[in-house]
Order: sequence, then C-alpha cells, then structure tokens
Amino acid sequence: MFEPPYHPYSEALLSAIPEPDPLWEGEQIFLSGTVPSPLDPPSGCRFHTRCPKVILDADYDLSQEAWRSIMDMKLRTREADSVGSVTAELESDTEGSRIDPTDASREEFGRMVRTEFDLPERLSDDDAEGAVSEAIDLLVDEQLSAAATTLDDAFTSPCSTHEPGAYEVSDDHYISCLRFDDRFDSERDVFENAA
Ligand code: SF4
Repeated sequence: MFEPPYHPYSEALLSAIPEPDPLWEGEQIFLSGTVPSPLDPPSGCRFHTRCPKVILDADYDLSQEAWRSIMDMKLRTREADSVGSVTAELESDTEGSRIDPTDASREEFGRMVRTEFDLPERLSDDDAEGAVSEAIDLLVDEQLSAAATTLDDAFTSPCSTHEPGAYEVSDDHYISCLRFDDRFDSERDVFENAA
C-alpha cells in the first residue's frame, strides 16, 4: 500500500505524517470536500468527494486545483439548505463591518463564493467559467436547487460515475484508482499531469 506509485488516499495519509526534519520541504496534502456517509456512500469511487486528484472532465482545460474547487462547490451546493452555506463565512468590507450573504451585491457574493472554494477570479476555461458564473447568479437569487442542477449538468468527473477496479501497477502491487485505468490514462495523460 505504501510504495510508489501511491493511491491518492495513501499519498494524503503519508503527507500527514509529522516530519522530524525541520528543513523538510515536502508538501502536506489537505483534503477538502465533504466526508462521505458510510451509510450512503457516493457513487463511483468512494473517495471522489475529497480526492485531490479527482479526474478532470476531458471537456475542460483546467488545473487540478481548480477542478477540485469546482467539485467542492458542486457538492456543497447540492447539499446546501441556505446560500450562507456556500459562501465564505462572512467577509469584512471595511474594518469591523461584515456582509450578510443574502444582502451582498452580485459582485460581493461572487467574491465570497470564490473565496470559500478557493476559486480564481476567472477560470482558465471559458465554458467552465460560464457555468460557475451562472451558478453564482442563481445563488444570488437564492435559487439553490437550480444552481445545484447547473453545476451537476456542467461538471462530472469519471470518478463519480465509474467504480475503480484493482489495477496492477507493478509486480503484486495493485491500486484501486481510475488514474491507473487505461481509458482515462490514454485520454487525459493523468499521471504526468498529476505529478
Ligand atoms: S478513482 Fe482515483 S483519482 Fe478518482 S477519486 Fe478515486 S482515488 Fe481519486
């Protein structure tokens, strides 16, 4: 389990082990997203709601980080019961004053959502940006379910629709991750992109 190449979950666990060397410059992997319920596990790969390497939809030209952020926004919006739960908690406009998401302007609200999910001001892919902007517009109007549908329709990872098998990556070393499935490797060249 703990020999390279690693499963993304193993990689996240390994990165969390405290490193005794104070000069260590390795990267700690923080898991965003929602923790799945064991009683109602997600479709596809059970780790896809949190996986930092969740596979990008081949229709988009986005960084891995931006894709994870979009997945987080989509999952949170799907489960949200108020617009406040898809914005940064509260944002100061001036010292000591705060903006209520339901009173925010479209611009302020958009900034709060992008801050919450660590999304850039503008995504590199125009179609992806269009869908995220449309969802933000719907959220401003408190149309939660329409916003969730917009994000669901626009963004799907193969990791949420395909259950991974066990893929042999070296002698007697198997990994249950779609990044090692040739269908996605050949389409996305994921190993190199993820490195
Ligand atoms: S299949 Fe692999 S890349 Fe996709 S969510 Fe699961 S662990 Fe992550």
